[in-house]
Amino acid sequence: MKYVDEFRDGKLARVLAAAIAREADAARSYSFMEFCGGHTHAISRYGVADLLPANVRMVHGPGCPVCVLPIGRVDMAIELALDHGVILCTYGDTLRVPASHGLSLMKAKAGVGAASDKRRGDIRMVYSSADAVRIAQENPGKEVVFLAIGFETTTPPTAVAIKQASALGLANFSVLCCHVLTPAAISNILESPEVRKYGTVPLDGFIGPAHVSTVIGSRPYEFFAEEYRKPVVIAGFEPLDVMQAILMLVRQVNEGRAVVENEFTRAVTRDGNLKAQDLVAETFELRREFEWRGLGLVPYSALKIRAHYAAFDAETRFPLRYRSVDDNRACECGAILRGVKRPQDCKLFGTVCTPDNPIGSCMVSSEGACAAHYSYGRFRVQEGDGR
Ligand code: SF4
Repeated sequence: MKYVDEFRDGKLARVLAAAIAREADAARSYSFMEFCGGHTHAISRYGVADLLPANVRMVHGPGCPVCVLPIGRVDMAIELALDHGVILCTYGDTLRVPASHGLSLMKAKAGVGAASDKRRGDIRMVYSSADAVRIAQENPGKEVVFLAIGFETTTPPTAVAIKQASALGLANFSVLCCHVLTPAAISNILESPEVRKYGTVPLDGFIGPAHVSTVIGSRPYEFFAEEYRKPVVIAGFEPLDVMQAILMLVRQVNEGRAVVENEFTRAVTRDGNLKAQDLVAETFELRREFEWRGLGLVPYSALKIRAHYAAFDAETRFPLRYRSVDDNRACECGAILRGVKRPQDCKLFGTVCTPDNPIGSCMVSSEGACAAHYSYGRFRVQEGDGR
């Protein structure tokens, strides 16, 4: 398939691996964070880490949408379904994110609650925000809420759904908005004590997101390159994209450069998708702060629905209150999302916690670091080689 096969070519992968090994300076080490879960998945699935020399290390970042969704937000969605009787619509992976009291949206749908609470919520998986609008049209006597999650990639379709519901005059549709912003998360990581003060997370550069960058462009990352002297290379999600990006990062480090480079030129421009950006700006505004799983409260890191569309804001429409809830004490998701620990550092990895029984959010989606390691690397990891 065009744009896929040529980016998975084994011979070319070996050529790139040889170039990285040749150009990486044996006298130093390199640590690069892949921000996106899509890159984490590609690195695990195609064994990219195995092709790198020992002194080039990849650090997983927080760019997996369901991984960073805090328990308190899933609790709000469950409350909407069980206490307010809404039809709750959301994307597939979100259904399995662990919430409070051993619940998840999936369990709330099945009525698998505490002994005293066996209510079943009308919770539906949708493939797009347009499906949620359609469900609202088909059920005029019911309130329908779309639990909207994700980074800048999934935000424009939510904006379209709100505008569409407004144009249709739908009085029973609203959105529980949990959209978050990539640049704010990168800033948070670069300002974290582990990176700035203790140096426990050495970061020499970033692989920048693929799909997010098709929307926001490469321009927002220029700040990180200039201000923090960290090279950024935006890369596609195929294995050769990732390897080419690693080579470009090694070269920047060797030459003492820190600029934004774009490996994913087949889809990303400097300015991004201006139409999508306008749509988002018209529909959403910045939240003062938002809690991320792993990163805690991050200022101006998420979006809320503008007052003009308040009728479609579930947080305005229903008496909801956000409560911060701690993760399972044994779960290391928070540290993994900050790049401080690796999945195999968690005692529950592959034993109590598996993709069939996720204890933390990083084991839910195929983009989550724990799920990716479990699916493609656990045997090697168990043998003690955990790169
Ligand atoms: S293996 Fe499970 S419990 Fe451990 S950090 Fe990953 S998601 Fe959390």
